[in-house]
Amino acid sequence: METGAALAVAVRKNALTPKAIVHQKFGVKACYKIEEVHESADNECPGLAILQKGPCMYRCSLQLPEIYVVSKIFKKKKEAEQHASELALEKLGIDPSGNPTEQDPWDALVGRIKFLFADEFLSSLHPLSGHLRAALQREGDLYGSVPISIIAILDAKVCNLSKAIDPKVELNPYLAISHVRKAAAQLSGIVVTSEDQHWIRRQNPYPLDVIESAIGESGSPGSFSIEAVYIPWSSEKAVDVVNLNVSSPGYYLDVIAKQLGLVEASEVLITRSIGKASSEARMYFAASQSCVLEPSADLGKKAMHLEGLYNARASYLSGEDVFGDAIFASIGYSWKSKDLWHEDLSKQSYYRMLLGKVPSGVYKLSRAAILTADLPLAFTTRTNWRGSIPRDILCAFCRQHRLSEPVFSIVSISEAPSEPSGSHKKLKVIDSAVEGTHCANGCAVSYGLEERAESGGMFRCEVKIYSRSQDLIIDCLPKESYKKHSDSIQKASLKVLLWLDAYFKNLDMPVERLECSAHELDIRFNPQSFSKAFEFCQSIRFFQHCDMQEGGSHDLNFMPGHRIFSVDIDGPVSGISPTNGSLSCISYSVTLVTESENTKELLESSDEFEFEIGSRSVISQLEAAVTQMTVGQSAFLRIDFPPQDFILAAADDSERILSLLSSKDCSLQYTITLIRVTEPLEDRMEQALFSPPLSKQRVEYALQHIKQSCATNLVDFGCGSGSLLDSLLNYQTSLEKIVGVDISHKSLVRAAKILHSKLNTNSDADVQTNDIKSAILYDGSITDFDSRLCGFDIGTCLEVIEHMEEDQAWLFGNIVLSYFRPKLLIVSTPNYEYNVILQRSSLSGQEEDPDDKTQSQSCKFRNHDHKFEWTREQFNHWATELAVKHNYSVEFSGVGGSGDTEPGFASQIAVFRRDTPHLAGDAMKVADSEHRFNIVWEWDRSNRS
Ligand code: SAH
Ligand code: MG
Repeated sequence: METGAALAVAVRKNALTPKAIVHQKFGVKACYKIEEVHESADNECPGLAILQKGPCMYRCSLQLPEIYVVSKIFKKKKEAEQHASELALEKLGIDPSGNPTEQDPWDALVGRIKFLFADEFLSSLHPLSGHLRAALQREGDLYGSVPISIIAILDAKVCNLSKAIDPKVELNPYLAISHVRKAAAQLSGIVVTSEDQHWIRRQNPYPLDVIESAIGESGSPGSFSIEAVYIPWSSEKAVDVVNLNVSSPGYYLDVIAKQLGLVEASEVLITRSIGKASSEARMYFAASQSCVLEPSADLGKKAMHLEGLYNARASYLSGEDVFGDAIFASIGYSWKSKDLWHEDLSKQSYYRMLLGKVPSGVYKLSRAAILTADLPLAFTTRTNWRGSIPRDILCAFCRQHRLSEPVFSIVSISEAPSEPSGSHKKLKVIDSAVEGTHCANGCAVSYGLEERAESGGMFRCEVKIYSRSQDLIIDCLPKESYKKHSDSIQKASLKVLLWLDAYFKNLDMPVERLECSAHELDIRFNPQSFSKAFEFCQSIRFFQHCDMQEGGSHDLNFMPGHRIFSVDIDGPVSGISPTNGSLSCISYSVTLVTESENTKELLESSDEFEFEIGSRSVISQLEAAVTQMTVGQSAFLRIDFPPQDFILAAADDSERILSLLSSKDCSLQYTITLIRVTEPLEDRMEQALFSPPLSKQRVEYALQHIKQSCATNLVDFGCGSGSLLDSLLNYQTSLEKIVGVDISHKSLVRAAKILHSKLNTNSDADVQTNDIKSAILYDGSITDFDSRLCGFDIGTCLEVIEHMEEDQAWLFGNIVLSYFRPKLLIVSTPNYEYNVILQRSSLSGQEEDPDDKTQSQSCKFRNHDHKFEWTREQFNHWATELAVKHNYSVEFSGVGGSGDTEPGFASQIAVFRRDTPHLAGDAMKVADSEHRFNIVWEWDRSNRS
């Protein structure tokens, strides 16, 4: 590229690199992303490329507020960045010599227009030159003329100069037309504009040889037809597909003009490109007189609103005011070749673009599961997340809504080891704005931080969203801090996304509700700049449920008002069922079913779709069904009132779907098969590293104590899905009554299923393996009192306390030892000191975190749901203090590893023994029959036949 060579010289002279110039002009708004490119590979997962050997090459993309460029491939990252900067400067028409010549913008504008109509420009790769060449194919009076609006829209320099003259151009693109007209007036003899029409052309024809060399090379004449979407201004009328028949000698804008019922190209106005930065999809609409002749006027806009000509759908999608009917087409000249570039747009692509403006929509699209996936409510771990990560979704969202790139500021906090958690000292603030040209969106800042992170340090991330004009709109500073800086970014991003998503699903949400949900998510927002930023959204209702049930939806989930009207689960129970934090893999299909016409239309399907259970990463009805299934089972569920916009985005566009949707009795049917379940990391570790698995060892430990004490009854605090109670049934013990308590209703239902079938089989059998006479499961918190739990022989509480906040763990200790007073209480919890061994050990391959090479050191707790994990000292402190207070003795032990060698057992256990007999304590007298827990399930052998 000639310019490249010229640039290199210029750079050496001025010692200002293209990147430095970009930085001067754009600061943190310049967002570089380096991508590794491998000779061998089309790598599906770029992150994994790190692991491969062989020469690594780099490509750099650069996102600026107005443009997006991608560099060629280089051996060095720096070279790729410089090249991307070079391309960007070229595209912006910025003088690469970097001289900050403060020229008068009017003079510069005149100069630029002169340049655009110069001989050399005609054969350049600038998108505008394509229009100039095509204009030479126009006939009669229109020979050589192009719409003035094209000049303002396609040339970034004209656009920027126009903005420098009057910043209002951003809001009123028609202003730019008058600027061009005015500047052109100073170029008499060079260009001509028309007074009453909106075209501009060169005064004297181009020399023949210039025309020949510019046009001669371009492709042979021919014609093609492209699909575009017609969006009537009246929202009563449906969008439709139109075909544009473009023939090569000729001007495509004339074709679009005709389609809009206009005479010729200069009566057409064009919006900025919509969607991806590299996209050529734009709205085309009539330059009706009033907008052009009264460029300054909001009055005009208001009048159009009144006349009803305001095209809300097209305006929403483009983020600009569009009046009258619009054509949404993807066609134009690009920087890549001189040929006209084009792409079909279907109704489906229109609906998908709409979807792309909503956070959950971006997520659905990234998972290719529009009717199934939903933006998860929590980011637990990078390894459990599927689809686009929150930070990327947030960046995409901001781009879609023409906001500035989000600013991530990361605060590094050092954890003072001697002090209890909560008293953090701030060490330093690493603001992305300080990080030079990189915004934290790219990996650059991440690397920087990795180097600076001190061992034991924690990160907090603040996210700020600004408008184009740098008004602060949203500011989110989560309270929580994280071991991995990338986690802090993702979690903060997700908070913002969830909040925005809830807003988009209910645009009528009153400000108080909006404020309330913002507060919950650690978000502050500026109502004025917020409503200004999303003003285009207000006139439109997409993806909103029209017949929401009373009270509206507080639900963050999509399809709020939709009911499941049936779920059927088929197939034998296999025992492997998903729990929170596990990954479920399903195959599924979604069909649109109508009862009356007896039709089924397949909308979406997948052979392998993996998602995390417990974070609502799929629509709630689906998650509810899957948690009730075991591996190998299938389920059918139906949802009525399917949301039309989603279906049209999912469906290959067809009139048929629309006609089915109009029938009253249509519903969505989901057919799911649970293929496999991958348990949470903690369980996998416990199974992989210990034999028998740690969970089994805990059961055996409890069993030993049951035998020794000849206990006849047992209560399991935090019984979960009943793994302990279930295992106990396999042994011959003295137990006659078993009770479980948990706050998770789902887990209890699972426990009930398993215990029920086992107890029944056992009591039907000839030889009974146990003597259990009764079993009960209670739904309730073990930090609450319920007299029915008093005076048991044995209480167990295995791997539960770490799931509560520390003060709650103390509360539980006090309640259980002062009120329930079992003879023996066994409490187990992870030994934090053992984590080093767990994490160092050979789990390789199982937990490949593409984002993080230091994953083994950075996984703080064994399970994302743990609120704490204690060292031996911390656990001893808790147990000893409680024991002394309540007249118990306590002994320490554990399972996994050994108590004699450092760092102790993997799972530490405290065994409390009651010193004094149970005196039917005060609490019993006061609240003898205080029943706070709900019975979920009860089994009694005497009630069986
Ligand atoms: N004891 C079981 C489950 C351990 S997982 C086993 O060893 O397999 C932790 C369990 O504690 C979860 O089922 C969770 O629902 C439960 N839990 C957490 N806080 C609780 C509380 N305050 N009251 C009752 N159960 C609680
Ligand atoms: Mg646990």
